[in-house]
Amino acid sequence: MDSLAHFILALLAGMAMGLHRKHKVTYIAFISFLAVLIDLDHFLVPLGYETVYRSLHNVYITILAPSLLFLAAYYFERNTPSDRYQTFFLILTVMLAGHVIADMIYGPVKIFYPLDDRDVSLPHIDIQATNEFTSEIIGPIGIGMTTYAVIIFLGALAHDTLYHMRRKCLSGRDALKHTLKDFF
Ligand SMILES: [Zn+2]
Repeated sequence: MDSLAHFILALLAGMAMGLHRKHKVTYIAFISFLAVLIDLDHFLVPLGYETVYRSLHNVYITILAPSLLFLAAYYFERNTPSDRYQTFFLILTVMLAGHVIADMIYGPVKIFYPLDDRDVSLPHIDIQATNEFTSEIIGPIGIGMTTYAVIIFLGALAHDTLYHMRRKCLSGRDALKHTLKDFF
């Protein structure tokens, strides 16, 4: 997927998480931009550093690193008035994970590279209404978008639960209940 599409998708993911109610849109746009930066992989190929673009499109950079930074920020900010860094890394994790999922719509990605070279794809589901009409009812784009939506939902759940814990001084369990009540 092209980098502009990734930026717009990340921005929409931020809006879908309801972030614009608590954060400035410029802040959401800034993190959306950061989530596009793994596409620097595209420049490594012509420069001869990579034969296929895969250095940054992996689970370590897109999921493991930002979620560990989120947990570290949560730990260090737990007794401070700020939740700035935990929020930042949570949003970044959602947008980076969404980026890789969106890329997987167009084909497999070596998401465990360099530890493992295997190509990983989204589950291949192709449901067609009739054999005469070739457009799918459920196909790769739908599967990719659904996976992205689940990531957004989990991100929104975590973001709002943390917000209720901090602003309303609730326990994690009560804050989660409060968030779920808001959602449903
Ligand atoms: Zn990409």
